[in-house]
Amino acid sequence: MTVPDEGDVVTYEVRGVVAFVTLDRPAFRNAQNSVMTYALDAAFERAVEDEQVKVIVLAGNGKHFSAGHDIGTPGRDHHVHYGNKAVMWWDHVDKPGGDGRYAREMEVYLGMCRRWREIPKPTIAMVQGACIAGGLMLAWVCDLIVASEDAFFSDPVVRMGIPGVEYFAHPWMLGPRFAKEILFTGDRFTAQRAYEVGMVNRVVPRADLEAETVALAERIAAMPQFGLALTKKAVNQCEDQMGMRNGMDSVFGLHHFAHAHNAETDDDPLGGMDAKSMAAGAHKSAAGGE
Ligand code: ZN
Repeated sequence: MTVPDEGDVVTYEVRGVVAFVTLDRPAFRNAQNSVMTYALDAAFERAVEDEQVKVIVLAGNGKHFSAGHDIGTPGRDHHVHYGNKAVMWWDHVDKPGGDGRYAREMEVYLGMCRRWREIPKPTIAMVQGACIAGGLMLAWVCDLIVASEDAFFSDPVVRMGIPGVEYFAHPWMLGPRFAKEILFTGDRFTAQRAYEVGMVNRVVPRADLEAETVALAERIAAMPQFGLALTKKAVNQCEDQMGMRNGMDSVFGLHHFAHAHNAETDDDPLGGMDAKSMAAGAHKSAAGGE
């Protein structure tokens, strides 16, 4: 195996009042491994503590925002130890079957996403190219999403026999009927369609993506910081009153039942699918999933 990544997999840069937290594995379409999860978390923490930063932009370096969780690069790291940060649980590495899988996914996927959704400063996902499966999770935890016209989205993990990614916000982000359509078909949907169903705030030409995102961030930054933090909490709390948190908790059980069913019947929790076969199934889609 070659060394998969050189340097940081997430970069941090402050421009004026805006912090840019950037996924930086462009050779792998910013596929997310655990190293990236913890690098992201550290960058977000830094932005929260940085007095100068009023708004955080989450970006992806290269042609694509993120192809999803890492299910096939040399840097895939299911077996790497890390200190749990999002949930209080034991280490996943030496645990067999569902014990280890549940511990890992609760920490690096559902737990981390919930932690990032609660970042007390406004966050904006700036999305171009592929935003697939685990990529959707990252965009969805941000308060706002600005997408370029070339952005496309999908959650094709039903091909693995799994009912969607771990952070099951689909019905709230897309509405129940469109959520079912994209899950049932695994089809991509465009930035324009995402705008129509209310999933993204703005669709802009690719060349204007950064400037438009920064302009929006700077407008928000002019508002009182504590007021913004309380407003974010207010909307998030109402979203949870609309059932999102409880819904995700119950679906997380179905998600793990599906992993366990796959492991029991195929000896593979991903239903025999990898990045390549997922991409083939999606007809030219950028690979990603789980
Ligand atoms: Zn999973």
